[in-house]
Amino acid sequence: MLAEPKGRKKPPPHLADLDAEERKARLVELGLPGFRAKQLSTHYFARLADDPAQMTDLPAAQRDELVSALLPHLMTPLRTLEADRGTTRKTLWRLFDGALVESVLMRYPGRVTMCVSSQAGCGMACPFCATGQGGLQRNMSTAEIVEQVLAGARALARDEVPGGTGRVNNVVFMGMGEPLANYKAVIGAVRRLTDDAPDGYGMSARGITVSTVGLVPRIRQLADEGIPVTLALSLHAPDDELRNELVPINTRFSVAETVEAAWSYAEKTKRRVSIEYAMMRGINDQAWRADLLGDVLTSYGDWGWVHVNLIPLNPTPGSKWTASDPADEREFVRRLEAKGVPTTVRDTRGREIDGACGQLAAAPD
Ligand code: SAH
Repeated sequence: MLAEPKGRKKPPPHLADLDAEERKARLVELGLPGFRAKQLSTHYFARLADDPAQMTDLPAAQRDELVSALLPHLMTPLRTLEADRGTTRKTLWRLFDGALVESVLMRYPGRVTMCVSSQAGCGMACPFCATGQGGLQRNMSTAEIVEQVLAGARALARDEVPGGTGRVNNVVFMGMGEPLANYKAVIGAVRRLTDDAPDGYGMSARGITVSTVGLVPRIRQLADEGIPVTLALSLHAPDDELRNELVPINTRFSVAETVEAAWSYAEKTKRRVSIEYAMMRGINDQAWRADLLGDVLTSYGDWGWVHVNLIPLNPTPGSKWTASDPADEREFVRRLEAKGVPTTVRDTRGREIDGACGQLAAAPD
């Protein structure tokens, strides 16, 4: 691995930041042969190689130069925690400037999901979320986002995850950060992940979920991209009074405006939207709020545009909130379903390794 660049303001440019033409142009700019870009892309996205010594189709004399031009070292794993007999793996990464982010690989029978970060820290300040407490450090680059997925892809290809060799099937932007506040880099990452190999990783856009607090103009922009990713909206309350507290951006975009944007995303893309709702005891889990949530969602029709995903709250250190009573959770589900809203309760994989929500990066020791 090459030394990390010192004193830089931005992550070093990497081929995953660029499309196929831009990769060529970058090599030419550096006085290197443009056709090598395709070979480098094949190593990265198709062969899932990360050791320059294996790239024997590159001339030995030029190999280091080519690799540092398009495949610079981006991030170092500081720690990996495992749960579920190794099928849940959370990695804490240190980026070039010391910023810490995390990603989680979750293997289920027949599929693998990677949960990735899109920012170091987060500026949205949701009080129940560990990442929200530290504020935003910076946006991640497209390549830093992609590299989290590729690191998982390499581990799977090398049979390092119990269950045999495999590929990443799903990517969820539910790690650190607000993906729609880092719009351009996130869209770049979605394109790289879905472009066919060797330009990209070649996964289906339908396997990608972008989760947001509800930046309304960005939801509309996403609907116009023509990429069929799944949208998840972190609603957490059906009324403005409570949502203003739990998701502070709600003071800018109300529940009504936010749900309307989610509905029009579903209408335009024909993709079912997922409403995320972290169940907090005595805060947002009352039966009347379940009824209100059902009414708010079905007011846009019941053609199956939406489903609710209840998340048992993962309490953060020092937080005044705890998870709901299981009986209250069951009643909440029952009431939503009675209104015709399909509802699931998220499984809590990796809870013992703080698999949710920035807790490892917040307290790395
Ligand atoms: N900023 C984006 C994505 C990151 S968080 C968003 O807010 O959607 C992914 C999901 O985890 C969000 O629904 C978020 O509200 C939820 N979450 C955050 N902290 C949590 C906690 N302590 N327990 C349960 N879910 C939490």
